[in-house]
Amino acid sequence: MAEKTIFGKIIDREIPAKIVYEDDLCLAFEDIHPQAPTHLIVIPKKAIPSVDDVAEADEAIVGLLFVAMRKIAAELGLTDGYRVVTNCGRDAGQEVMHLHFHFLAGRRFTWPPG
Ligand code: 5GP
Repeated sequence: MAEKTIFGKIIDREIPAKIVYEDDLCLAFEDIHPQAPTHLIVIPKKAIPSVDDVAEADEAIVGLLFVAMRKIAAELGLTDGYRVVTNCGRDAGQEVMHLHFHFLAGRRFTWPPG
């Protein structure tokens, strides 16, 4: 079995995090190094390493992550928008090998990203 990641430890409450949303399949918590006034990490509780590892059987879980983000945005009153980002693999700079979406809000974002 793969070694538990830092996000797996947050799911299991082995290390602390500021959790802002939780349901049976998803968890969202504040990023420890925020890049915007709101910077959340949104993850499935299932240990899927990255987009590269998403199976057909995971389609409902991945869809539910977006439902969770829509609920979070409504809860936080983010009527001016937000950005959702996922890094997959080395070239994208993925550090934690547990599928996650960065949920960023509270400032204007540029495009293209760096
Ligand atoms: P990645 O580069 O893999 O897409 O993003 C990993 C993110 O996880 C980074 O934004 C980083 O700040 C965040 N992170 C890493 N370790 C921890 C931690 O222990 N707690 C929290 N809340 N965030 C973390």
